[in-house]
Amino acid sequence: MHFDTLIHNAVILTCNPGFEILRGGWVGVSGGKIQALGTGPESGRTPARECIDARGGIVMPGLVNTHTHLPMTLFRGLADDLPLKTWLENHIFPAERAVIAPASVHWGTLLACAEMALSGTTTCCDGYFFEDSVAEAVDAFGLRAVLGQGVIDHPAPGVPDPDRNLTAARDFCERWRNRTETLRPSVFCHSPYTCSRATLVGAKQLCEELGLLFQVHAAETRWESEHIRSTQGRSPIAHLDRIGVLDERTLLAHCVWVDADDIAVIAGRRASVSHNPESNMKLGSGVAPVARMLSAGIAVGIGTDGCASNNDLDLFPAMDTTAKLHKVANLDPTVLPAETVIRMATIDGARALGLDDAIGSLEPGKQADLIVVDTRKPHLTPIHHPASAVVYTAKGSDVRTVMVAGRILVRDRRVVTVDLEEVLQQVTVIGRALKNHESKHDKGLRGAAEVDPFERKP
Ligand SMILES: [Zn+2]
Repeated sequence: MHFDTLIHNAVILTCNPGFEILRGGWVGVSGGKIQALGTGPESGRTPARECIDARGGIVMPGLVNTHTHLPMTLFRGLADDLPLKTWLENHIFPAERAVIAPASVHWGTLLACAEMALSGTTTCCDGYFFEDSVAEAVDAFGLRAVLGQGVIDHPAPGVPDPDRNLTAARDFCERWRNRTETLRPSVFCHSPYTCSRATLVGAKQLCEELGLLFQVHAAETRWESEHIRSTQGRSPIAHLDRIGVLDERTLLAHCVWVDADDIAVIAGRRASVSHNPESNMKLGSGVAPVARMLSAGIAVGIGTDGCASNNDLDLFPAMDTTAKLHKVANLDPTVLPAETVIRMATIDGARALGLDDAIGSLEPGKQADLIVVDTRKPHLTPIHHPASAVVYTAKGSDVRTVMVAGRILVRDRRVVTVDLEEVLQQVTVIGRALKNHESKHDKGLRGAAEVDPFERKP
């Protein structure tokens, strides 16, 4: 046997069922998969085409970001410190109408991929418009992803006629199904308040027919919870359950406003949840009862959400925030310990996306999606507990090497699959166009959203 790549001199966080940590460890990769891993001299006897010395650093599964809107990197910092409804109606939707097109989506997505890879994320679960352009960019970069064509009952970028939103989603899914090893198509319904019952049910049926993940924002804000209660007579989760769209292939983003009954429904249907703590905090949406959802056995992953509401795609601070937010919310420092949070960002996130057979832990036979964290840093010295170091002290910028399916995407902190300089330049130009649009908007268009996205079509 020989390895394509051997990574050695590492502390390996396997994230396997026993959460084994291998000190003085090595991982052998061939054919895009993990062939073997262990400690001691075995690695020295197996020839490898390339050896990577982790220099005592931490090797762990690549992180899984369960909720993104990749092209929204273009709107990073465009409008902050506003309520969700104002933020969406007066800033995000007009900005989308102004600049979102296949080319801007392409560059915004490449930027997002670079940011994710450079901070240790190897898989993301996305939902946006012009998702073909997202898919092409993610494929060019080399990350793994579940990519959802956005569905909403009002005119949207690329889908001006809402009556065609499900057709557009079907076309996207059929184009990308079985096209690459690393990308899976999906359908992303915006929410129960912007999608009618018929749209939600139609999108779920499409996913069932093609065997794909169905995604929807759900129970994000108090406004949504009250709105759905007043229009549907039940909570957002109970509404989604009643129309039959909750099962093990449903990913619910947010679930902030859920009660004990909602949690029992989500667990009973085996649906999964993306917890997006920084977005929920920044938009003042509330604190999702994550500890209770985990106790109920729900697969809960961690997401950053789009860059307009976070404002980055770095899962390291998202892990730190997750661990601390639930301790303060419960007034209990024992909830969500570091190990639990790492599981959420790796194997549980993979389970939430239905990818846990392939990724999320370092075990022989699994895809070689892994990262090397450089620990030769003041803030990472000494390391008494590797899991603690990862959650409470490491930063995305400590990630040195990133591999997806055995292919190196980041080497010594440099992106190797695309020309990052060109991506930065292109996004800067788009950013300027957006700034001009915003200043015009500020002079008189503010508040004049052309369509009220919160008004569902009958
Ligand atoms: Zn979102």
